[in-house]
Amino acid sequence: MGIISLASANSCWRGLDYYKRNNVVKVNKINEFEYSSIVKGSKNYKVYLNIKHPRKSTCECPLAKGRRVICKHIIATYFKAIPGEARNFEEEQTKLQEEYEEYQDELYNKAIRYIMKMSRNELIEELIHIFDYGPEWIYDDFLKRNYIE
Ligand SMILES: [Zn+2]
Repeated sequence: MGIISLASANSCWRGLDYYKRNNVVKVNKINEFEYSSIVKGSKNYKVYLNIKHPRKSTCECPLAKGRRVICKHIIATYFKAIPGEARNFEEEQTKLQEEYEEYQDELYNKAIRYIMKMSRNELIEELIHIFDYGPEWIYDDFLKRNYIE
């Protein structure tokens, strides 16, 4: 499994930010798969990166120390060590976001088409169901938008 898919989304985005801000001050290539670095954060952290076995990567920060967690410092080191990976990550995220938005639009259009075909009684039942089972803000929002006190 790739190192990106093993890290949380938060670690990936913050790692990207660290990389872009040049917080990775020193990368040392040990061999084809292993790197060490120093990453500037609230402190300077020593990072060991293993691309072949990402879970073996380590960092001295509180999140990753003594645990098999891929933190933002490890991700930042990865982006610095492997040219093009930061751009690949961003392109992949943009693509996922676009696919998600397309999917949302499709769902919305389907829902509208369905609503247009519903009878008055079906609409009433559905609206009551939404108020009973939906999040409270739907109900609040409905009352506010219709000036119902
Ligand atoms: Zn760390």
